[in-house]
Amino acid sequence: MTFKELGLVPPILKALEAEGYSKPTPIQAQSIPILLKGKDLLGCAQTGTGKTAAFAIPILQLLYKATRNRPKGKRRIKALVLTPTRELAIQIGESFTAYGKHTGINNTVIFGGVKQGPQTRILQKGVDILVATPGRLLDLIGQGFIDLRDIDYCVLDEADRMLDMGFIHDMRRIIALLPEGRQSLFFSATMAPTIVALSKKMLGNPARVTVRPEQTTAERVSQSLYYVTKKQKTNLLIDLLYDNKGASTLVFSRTKHGANKIVKQLTKADIQSAAIHGNKSQGARQRALGEFKDGKIKVLVATDIAARGIDVDELACVINYDLPNVPESYVHRIGRTGRANASGVAISFCNAEERAYLKDIEKLIKQKIPVISDHDYTDDLMEELEQERLEPAAKMRAKRQQERSRQPRRRSGNRRNKPAVNKPNSGKKTEQSKSSGPQTTGGSDTGTASKRRRKRPFWKKKKKS
Ligand code: AMP
Repeated sequence: MTFKELGLVPPILKALEAEGYSKPTPIQAQSIPILLKGKDLLGCAQTGTGKTAAFAIPILQLLYKATRNRPKGKRRIKALVLTPTRELAIQIGESFTAYGKHTGINNTVIFGGVKQGPQTRILQKGVDILVATPGRLLDLIGQGFIDLRDIDYCVLDEADRMLDMGFIHDMRRIIALLPEGRQSLFFSATMAPTIVALSKKMLGNPARVTVRPEQTTAERVSQSLYYVTKKQKTNLLIDLLYDNKGASTLVFSRTKHGANKIVKQLTKADIQSAAIHGNKSQGARQRALGEFKDGKIKVLVATDIAARGIDVDELACVINYDLPNVPESYVHRIGRTGRANASGVAISFCNAEERAYLKDIEKLIKQKIPVISDHDYTDDLMEELEQERLEPAAKMRAKRQQERSRQPRRRSGNRRNKPAVNKPNSGKKTEQSKSSGPQTTGGSDTGTASKRRRKRPFWKKKKKS
């Protein structure tokens, strides 16, 4: 399948060629024909799949055809794209500009945290496509700078993230302001019930497109895990950055304060880096991002929200300095590397307190992340942690052993052991069965030991008896 076969007009084909896109990604191949027919779309896809182009290209083409012969006069906003963060909004605006550069269709981006003057001045001149974050959009609608009456196309991007960020009421208010008869597009990486309910409010009878969301990234990116104590994380980070000098690396911190602290410690180690997070001014964030994109600085330290929309062509590596407490964020994070068919590297640090997060992540990606134990900062609890991780396998082995040990006893008619062994819940031991001690088989014994182990917090050392 080529872009030409999708029936795209020459000005857009020319722009895509200049971008170096040789063929559509799966979400583009599926969505573009649906959208060009004017249908609503419910897309289950995350960033990194090429979803921005999947909605931007058909909107540009439809607007191009509709407005080619428009009478001269002020442009009215015909397409609205709602997105959760400023970085993502800027990124989407840049995509519209790149794909639409030969179409004569213009766009502008509005978001909060900056003065509204420059934004309202552009709006007053007239724009075709508006990319906006919800708060600033409602604000400017309230002040009379924006009118949604002429909207023909509306995109709600990263709906799940919008809900996470508490935009549900804003979104409902905006949806209520949209005119009937528009074409609506709704994208989300996950489809929780609240998301589905919200999509029903916005969409008529949508076509659905799903690009295997979470696993695709997890499979594409080469992942590894380091067990390391909290204290030693920075030393390990510094070592890894020295080893991979020159490779552009995005480091994730769970908190803004943490991100600042990492930058300080890297500076002491002579590694140039910058932090981006919500407490930084928009100017500082844009500057840091620009320098990172241009390769002037090789290490960017970010929080999850600030990292949305970071699209760096050759991002070699993502390092999870802290594991995220929301497992989907892990997939979003590692999706920053290995974008659109390239392979990438994702390294995660895990200390004892983060074990639960790791469990959730591995459950979501349906993979065990390979552990690197050959490093200078190994957590001395690693063995125990690793044993816990492998517990399901150990349990299976114990069960098999238990079953094997039952058989000869039954044959020899040894009734003495029978009650303890044959109990259906012999894994959940009663005081009586615990006291049976030597009588219990090896299998049951392992069960008791692992039970005892689980009761004691795994990061506390065993008391010597
Ligand atoms: P997105 O999922 O929209 O954030 O896009 C992820 C990355 O894929 C961006 O860097 C795009 O420039 C790139 N991309 C989008 N479509 C294509 C394509 N058809 N071929 C190659 N790269 C693409």
